[in-house]
Amino acid sequence: MTVPKLILDFLRENEGSAFCADCIKAHLKLLRRQQAQQATAALALNELVNCQMDFCDECFELAPKNFRRDRVDLLH
Ligand SMILES: [Zn+2]
Repeated sequence: MTVPKLILDFLRENEGSAFCADCIKAHLKLLRRQQAQQATAALALNELVNCQMDFCDECFELAPKNFRRDRVDLLH
């Protein structure tokens, strides 16, 4: 299972919430925050997730937070 796939599944399970890279890293037990950042950046490029500066729903830090785009449902 690739990191981007794990992140998409995680965001799907938490529909309606958005998370910063730190929280995604913690939830998916990734070794490095950079893995979450790179994967979410790739997902955003492919328009599978939205990424915008806002307060994370979990840790409430101001950071780029990520949430699934509705469009994903059309792709599967
Ligand atoms: Zn967070």
